[in-house]
Amino acid sequence: MKGYIGVWTSRKDMLQMEYKRALEFFAECGITTIIVGYLGSHAEYYRHIDLPVVTSKEEPPTLRDICKMAEDVGIKVEVVVEPKCMSLAKRAPEISVVDVFGNRGNIGCLSHPKVISYVQARIRDILENHEVTGIELDGAYIDMHPRMTNPRGQPGALYPYHHVAPESCFCKYCRSLAKEEGIDIDRIEETVKKITKISLELSSRNFYRAFDTFRGQYDMIRFIMKYPELIDWLNFRCKIISRFLEQIKRTVKAIDPNLTVSHDMLPPTWSWSIGQDYAGQKDYCDNYKIVFYHKRVGSFEVNPLIAIRDKIPDVNEDDIIELYKRLVGYEGPPSITYFSQHGFPSTNIYYELRKAREEVGPDYKLIAGIVGDAPATPTDIEEAIIMAAKGGADGFCLHTWYGRTPPSNYAAFGNKARELLMAC
Ligand SMILES: [Zn+2]
Repeated sequence: MKGYIGVWTSRKDMLQMEYKRALEFFAECGITTIIVGYLGSHAEYYRHIDLPVVTSKEEPPTLRDICKMAEDVGIKVEVVVEPKCMSLAKRAPEISVVDVFGNRGNIGCLSHPKVISYVQARIRDILENHEVTGIELDGAYIDMHPRMTNPRGQPGALYPYHHVAPESCFCKYCRSLAKEEGIDIDRIEETVKKITKISLELSSRNFYRAFDTFRGQYDMIRFIMKYPELIDWLNFRCKIISRFLEQIKRTVKAIDPNLTVSHDMLPPTWSWSIGQDYAGQKDYCDNYKIVFYHKRVGSFEVNPLIAIRDKIPDVNEDDIIELYKRLVGYEGPPSITYFSQHGFPSTNIYYELRKAREEVGPDYKLIAGIVGDAPATPTDIEEAIIMAAKGGADGFCLHTWYGRTPPSNYAAFGNKARELLMAC
């Protein structure tokens, strides 16, 4: 049987079931690979980096223990690497992204030499000390704005402006790269500032200005033609990520060419807004994992919609979701509340895989990321992977890191994935 059937494990869930028993259960369900975190570190890998790196000792089971247990049941291990360096950026704000107004964000900038050195050191630490098959990059990207992950209580920003004019990163390293690339960063800065300000002016009048004039995709073309420098900006941000990925790939393959780099990508519909380019970056990764946890995505993506609703209560909330759906082109959901609780219907997974396949061609490995925890049920998971397979996925990955994934969801995932991969 070919194919990849992976699980992004939740340590809490695994320990609850007893780690060894959980792995045996995974093997019975047909799962081929687990993706785990590495909680330890070896100080000698980080000494040359001038950053407040905290080195720590692992609690059992250690990554080495996990690799041994996995090997015993024939399961491969991939280890997550977090390019965003969020906890490091908190301790050393000078490595974080800078928005168009000069504010620091909460993630590291992937142009910053210290961030690149740290991620390379982390990779060496993992791969030189453990028997694993490769790394999974937990999303190499640049925020469209610091509110991207949208914890509640953030100021709202109007669509589509905050997506099409992403406000980071204007740090000195990104600026200097822009100059090297010959793009007009000063003009871009001016335009991004102007559009970001529009996106932050929350009034019913401004909301309906967007609602009434962005009716379909042709209206977006009209807008972009007015600001062609935004295309340079969006492409340049992808270049920053490509440059980073190229260095990561070189680091991994220098250790062992058989080790793999797997990259978590947002769906093609909006991956461009964070600097991810399916066609342009495929040479730097062995495969893409498309993060499409359709039942869960609503509970994250609803926050920016709620922020708009709370700030301008005289706007009809159905119009807020209507404009959002029009822009992303997704089917469903009918209301903000429904979206929050149920996310997107699985038919969108089919279309996202189709778009991704079109971008990367027939031979590139695409793995569909499906959410495992509640409110997803075994039926939801089966439906999602059927849609992903129909759209052209070569493998599947169940995301369970939020915890509370019932055994019936793992079984439904593994069994259905095995069946679909055997059939192709
Ligand atoms: Zn930067």
